[in-house]
Amino acid sequence: MCAVFGAFNVKEAARITYFGLYSLQHRGQESSGIVSSDGSSLRVHKGSGLVARVFNEKDFEYLKGNLAIGHNRYGTSGGGSFLHSQPVHRKNSHLALAHNGNFPTLKKIKSFLKDKGLATKKLNDSELVYELINFYLHKDLTLEESIKTSLPLLNGAFCLLILTPDKLAAFRDPCGIRPLCIGRANGGYVFSSETCALNTVNAKFIRYVKPGELVVASSKGLKSYQLFPPNLKLDIFEFVYFARPDSILLGKSVNEIRRNLGRQLAKEVKIKADIVIPVPDSAIPAAFGFSEQSGIKLEFGLIKNRYVHRTFIQPTQKLREREVEMKLNPLRHVLEGKEVIVIDDSIVRGTTSKRIVSILRRAGAKAVHLLISSPPVKYPDFYGINTPNQKDLIANNLTLEQITKFIGADSLHYLSYKGLIDATGLPEKLFCTSCFTGNYPIDIGEKKNGIIYDIKVGAGSEENRRTYL
Ligand code: AMP
Repeated sequence: MCAVFGAFNVKEAARITYFGLYSLQHRGQESSGIVSSDGSSLRVHKGSGLVARVFNEKDFEYLKGNLAIGHNRYGTSGGGSFLHSQPVHRKNSHLALAHNGNFPTLKKIKSFLKDKGLATKKLNDSELVYELINFYLHKDLTLEESIKTSLPLLNGAFCLLILTPDKLAAFRDPCGIRPLCIGRANGGYVFSSETCALNTVNAKFIRYVKPGELVVASSKGLKSYQLFPPNLKLDIFEFVYFARPDSILLGKSVNEIRRNLGRQLAKEVKIKADIVIPVPDSAIPAAFGFSEQSGIKLEFGLIKNRYVHRTFIQPTQKLREREVEMKLNPLRHVLEGKEVIVIDDSIVRGTTSKRIVSILRRAGAKAVHLLISSPPVKYPDFYGINTPNQKDLIANNLTLEQITKFIGADSLHYLSYKGLIDATGLPEKLFCTSCFTGNYPIDIGEKKNGIIYDIKVGAGSEENRRTYL
């Protein structure tokens, strides 16, 4: 998923970018970095871990200038290497790039670079894009021309922020799978993955970068180039889980949409219970909505240790399992002897849900009904979320009954797909729904061959299924 943030013509741009990245920490926790420009040269500082750990006062003294871009990297299993931290920047070069998203296929760009005699080995997707734009800049094309000429070789879901000593460019792919917005701040501009970061830096929301649009901030102000016809397909998972509830997407409050998901769930699933509790933090708005609609009392039955971060990101299954217990502690006096509805936003591998149900039972819950405020995740993601291989998605391996048994709940209910769309109040055609439907709006190339659409077959091996059962 990742976060990008940029500041143009803003005093102490690196510090502002730091505050922006701080607000976007939920989009990536593996590493963080900022490149700044004082108008003539670029300076970089990057490090592993959370934003607060990566930067200190000395770094801001070093990161001089009124222009900056920054990046938080999202952890993928096994991919915890500092080597991949961003923004991409080569020593002494006049170009830096921050990328949120993913390119399912890199064939075209690799063969182009190879043709030109440039090395592509060991380069990750963002570095390949960097090399491509750099190649054109060295042919004496302007930044705008270099980006325009490079884009036809790129296929995927991506938001890019590109910095040169005196310009900051922002591009969003023609489907706009990931969000990217523009704000005004103290005579300058900021660019941010989500609107929540604008408030933090005291910037005023101007608008979203349009799908397929290149926006360049320079001494001439903001210039827009609509390079591809827009075909908006915002990843609906941004509403379900990724985005912060205090962000606005497609003109809608993420918090309000999550509340609607809960209301919709209550319309679809009628079960009796004493209390409804959220899995904090991501399912809190949905639990509010569910309680409102059903009249079942909302309680906090699980308290989150706010110093333990997202469990999904841990590289091994064993670590992930232990982290759930470290992160969530039950309130026995709320749960004991009660029939409990617990709401979570999604089930991916099933690890979190299984632990949660067991935690609630050990704390004395008489019955545990797990309700999920989105449909089953059956298909892998190729656009930057980094959900696991299809074989590891529990809903692709097991039937609803089998999943219920595996996680140990009295009952399990997902929100319907139609309910999800209805709750957004927006037309289905505006969204990428690939993780629920297997419809991939951007070509995923050779990856399509491996996708299994029939749950009876399932992507997991028999052995894999047996470990679940
Ligand atoms: P799992 O334990 O694999 O079933 O993960 C499900 C939990 O992780 C849910 O409680 C979600 O809040 C969260 N989650 C869902 N999708 C993602 C994602 N792509 N990255 C990080 N966390 C996620």
